[in-house]
Amino acid sequence: MAGFGKLRVAVIGAGAAGLCAARHLLSRPDTFAPPVVYELTKNIGGTWVYEERIGCYDNGLPIHSSMYRDLRTNIPKEVMSFPDFPFAKHLPSFVHHTEVRKYLEQYCDHFRLWDHIQFGTSVASVTPVDVKGGWNELAWNVTSTDGLDHSKSTTERFDAVMVCNGHFYDPYIPAIPGLEKFKGTLMHSHEYRSAEPLAGKSVVLLGAGLSGLDIAMELSNVDAKVILSHGQRPLTCPLPPGVQQAPPVTSVLDDGTLEFKDGERAKPEVFLFCTGYNFTFPFLDEKVGVNVQEHLVWPLYKFLIPPAYPSLFIVGICRAICPFPHFHIQSQFVLSVLDGSFPLPSREDMENDIELDIAARRARGFATRHILKLDSEQWAYNDELAHLGGFQPLPRYWSNLYESNKVFRARDMLNYKTYNYTVLENMDWKVHDLHGQQ
Ligand code: FAD
Repeated sequence: MAGFGKLRVAVIGAGAAGLCAARHLLSRPDTFAPPVVYELTKNIGGTWVYEERIGCYDNGLPIHSSMYRDLRTNIPKEVMSFPDFPFAKHLPSFVHHTEVRKYLEQYCDHFRLWDHIQFGTSVASVTPVDVKGGWNELAWNVTSTDGLDHSKSTTERFDAVMVCNGHFYDPYIPAIPGLEKFKGTLMHSHEYRSAEPLAGKSVVLLGAGLSGLDIAMELSNVDAKVILSHGQRPLTCPLPPGVQQAPPVTSVLDDGTLEFKDGERAKPEVFLFCTGYNFTFPFLDEKVGVNVQEHLVWPLYKFLIPPAYPSLFIVGICRAICPFPHFHIQSQFVLSVLDGSFPLPSREDMENDIELDIAARRARGFATRHILKLDSEQWAYNDELAHLGGFQPLPRYWSNLYESNKVFRARDMLNYKTYNYTVLENMDWKVHDLHGQQ
């Protein structure tokens, strides 16, 4: 597909996904001009840039990161890292979030990414333009504004765009009848920074995903009385002291009492939503036809490419995945599409592929809002992309170690972060707890 000179690629966002995209584009100076990475904040790292404040930055833009003060990762560093750049050896397997930010800064140093990032620059619009005779007959106008006062607006033209704007910053709050009648403190995990302000309080925490469980444990440590309300099967692993389970909250009564699905009631001081986030692409021209519906972003071939505009790539929207390696695989796949080593099917064939894939997921019982959850299917997805793009798949131990951590976490949520992993020379691995028990 290349052949009209070096391809210019815009990257939106300098979180882990955008940095990974830039790293791979820079590794191919034969085909790609140095990328332009637009970043609305003054830092790289996105999610991993802890902000004590909630609400807005000084410039009025909403705070992006949902990081909380004491967070340690829920994936061991041995498989959380980009495969071509391990975390420092001396660190434990489950690191504090500050170490992840440092790691990403080291990644920028190592792959010389800094000079290609335009900080304080917010992408306001991404619009396809016809360029007859040009590469792919299509280009993109990317308009950005100076993040400080939005006064300066600049438009640049690119051959392709990699959208890496993240999806953990726009809180999703489910519609609960009567919610406006709740009289206590209503908050979302996006605004949660530390447990102390909730010490000793009664809290109904809605959602038992990774953040919900983690925050329930933090609240238990400050003697909060937590009702963990969720729609999954009841958790069977030991729960932290002071935490009990309940089915989902179905309504809020006139006096502000919460009613649960089983008819039980509670009137907590705090109602804390750990219910996830919305996808938003506010800068994307409607013409591109990317829809967001009940947490599903579609139509996207291989969860990446809108068939009508196949030089735009939305990186990292899959959920329940091992993010950094996933970005590493997707970025290389994008390069293989752009350099022509993987010729894309026709628009019609891509659309059929998407329909079949979504139908197959529905047939396996996935509700629309869960279709992007790859979970254990991520490994087959990664391998497929590596095969199609003709590049190295992830090392074999990766999936096994990651899946084992999931089992340990489900069995022992209170202690799994005390485990340490070692990858052996033969690419096998072993795990031991802090007392050296294997
Ligand atoms: P982000 O990190 O969100 O980065 C997106 C970037 O795009 C930001 O810097 C933002 O400022 C920028 N941006 C957005 N819009 C624009 C615009 N219009 N113009 C310019 N720039 C823009 N993953 C793990 O692997 N292990 C963990 O233990 C783990 N724990 C997590 C805990 C929490 C509380 C959360 C919220 C997430 C966690 N994750 C974890 C997932 C984590 O989000 C991913 O690992 C990864 O950091 C996502 O990277 P990203 O680049 O897709 O998005």
